[in-house]
Amino acid sequence: MDGPVDTAPRAGEAGPLEKRRAAVRVRVSAVRLIVGSVIFAAIAAAACGFVAFAVAKASDARDAEIHRSALREAVADYRGLLDVHSERFLRLVERSSGIKTLRFETDIGGGAGETQPVIDRDGRIAGVLTWQPATPMTDLVWRGMPLVIAIALALSGLAGFALYQLRRSRRELALSEERARVAAEQDPLTGLPNRATMIALAERAVEARRGDDAVVCGLLGLSRLDAVASAYGQGSADEILQVTARRLRDFLPEGARCGRAGPHEFAVLMTGEIDAAMTMRAAVAAASQPHWLDTVVHVDVHAGMAASPSDAATAEELMRRAELALRDAQAKAPGTLIAFAPALDAQASTAQFIRRELPRALGAGALDVHYQPIVAADGSGVTGIEALLRWTHRERGAIPPADFIPVAEQMGLMDALGAFVLRRALDDTRRWPDLYVSVNLSPLQVRDRRFVDVAREALAQTGVAPSRLMLEITEGVLIDNPEQMIERIAELHAIGVGIALDDFGAGYSNLGYLQRFNFDKLKVDRSFVSALGESPNAGVILQAIVTLGRALGVTVLVEGVETEEQRVLLRLAGCDEMQGFLFARPAPAEAIDRLIERRRAGRSLTRSAA
Ligand code: C2E
Ligand code: MG
Ligand code: MG
Repeated sequence: MDGPVDTAPRAGEAGPLEKRRAAVRVRVSAVRLIVGSVIFAAIAAAACGFVAFAVAKASDARDAEIHRSALREAVADYRGLLDVHSERFLRLVERSSGIKTLRFETDIGGGAGETQPVIDRDGRIAGVLTWQPATPMTDLVWRGMPLVIAIALALSGLAGFALYQLRRSRRELALSEERARVAAEQDPLTGLPNRATMIALAERAVEARRGDDAVVCGLLGLSRLDAVASAYGQGSADEILQVTARRLRDFLPEGARCGRAGPHEFAVLMTGEIDAAMTMRAAVAAASQPHWLDTVVHVDVHAGMAASPSDAATAEELMRRAELALRDAQAKAPGTLIAFAPALDAQASTAQFIRRELPRALGAGALDVHYQPIVAADGSGVTGIEALLRWTHRERGAIPPADFIPVAEQMGLMDALGAFVLRRALDDTRRWPDLYVSVNLSPLQVRDRRFVDVAREALAQTGVAPSRLMLEITEGVLIDNPEQMIERIAELHAIGVGIALDDFGAGYSNLGYLQRFNFDKLKVDRSFVSALGESPNAGVILQAIVTLGRALGVTVLVEGVETEEQRVLLRLAGCDEMQGFLFARPAPAEAIDRLIERRRAGRSLTRSAA
């Protein structure tokens, strides 16, 4: 399975953007605090100044009033004793009232400041006493005013600066919030809407759907990106994803939206009049175009699709069913597009059943190995047997290996299963010393280096000659890491076993493999044989494969021979070995014993199977 390649932060992990937002948030609250306290300080300073001023004014006014009434009393006291014009009168009044700057004016209207008329002994106004009232407290406050103003100015400057900072941080916060929103909805690598956004869009589309309109969700899966990443670097895999995103975005018609649905998957959401199947086929074609990295790189693309309301009522169900269709397509040839069908649901529940039951079966001895004879094409008899894994469930009966082996691989049980089959096959093979035994290997087994030791040990423990063991591998395993496979095949050859390429023609049918990898045997897939009667080309292709294999010095075995007609045609084509229901179906070891016994008695396998 391909691993994730995206660089977006996982759930629960703070990304750089999130950290930046948190830092900005802290700054905003700090600045807010400073602004608040500075404004408070400025207001408090202004209020204090105002209060001090008012208090000083009041205190000065009260003093002035006291002086004034003391003056009035002194004038009344001394006016009868002394001449009001005399200097002595003035000084005495000054002393009694506490007013320092008294002047006597005979001009009643003249003089500034406070005035107090003076009436002489005759009862006439002799003049006025004038003075400037002292304001010591107010003067003090006035003297302190520049300092207060300076402090207030400094404080308001500070407040202004803090306010400016606050605004700036707010702007940054808004910007980073916008970025976070975009990041939450977008896939950072491709710039396309991410999976959550696609689901949200699908939800809206499903809700807005009217009448006969359908909402279709297509999924494109890119395979082999992990192999690309390990061969050319992660950057190359990322580039492929980006280029694919661009291709999809550029060609999709109006009413179709694409997004990234998974590490190696793209979703296409289609509404309205769009021909969804045609659009998806075109999308597969666009995504399958080669990529130009250091060299030309081909990525396999598979697609699945589902429609609402026919396949799903909700967006979530729609997505899940499109996914089921994609998984189904991914088990088939590259470029395959599968539309959801109810059978896929059954398949999914089978897989679930297998996941639950297989570990138990492994422990409970419910697994067995059956054998299918392989015969020489020239009719000289059985040359070998293929070991085929069998699982009989107590309630469900026989479960086909094609169903449970992929699940075993996913669950990490393939090592145990593979070792079991190998060991059992080698054990049983001791019953048929003239035959070789062919054992199927799953891709995971072949990739695992330790398998070479497992095989060596099993051979040593059972005492079977390595030359009697043939290991079957399928094409798929060769593609991802050809260099590693060449090495692995060499290691296996070194312990003396043979290597067969199984199911040739079912998948990629790359003739180049025959030359590149050092196979001993080519097992031609039964699809060629079943096509024999239907298409005139099938015979020509089969003939070409046989000829090529023989030219390369590889034994050619044809699988799935079911009729006498096919056998004759294949014999004419020149293949070396055959296998199929025509000769024998897979059967337990004891049945093979009987079969071989019959052959010894001189009866042909062909007749015995008929
Ligand atoms: P395969 O290795 O190509 O095995 C041949 C399959 O074709 C077997 O299916 C066999 O029963 C079937 N077959 C043989 N002759 C005919 C015929 O004339 N007509 C038709 N229609 N079918 C025929 P089976 O046993 O269901 O196995 C399916 C696949 O499962 C195998 O394909 C192999 O890839 C895998 N498999 C089976 N046993 C093992 C195992 O022990 N390990 C691994 N890794 N894979 C296994
Ligand atoms: Mg096989
Ligand atoms: Mg096969």
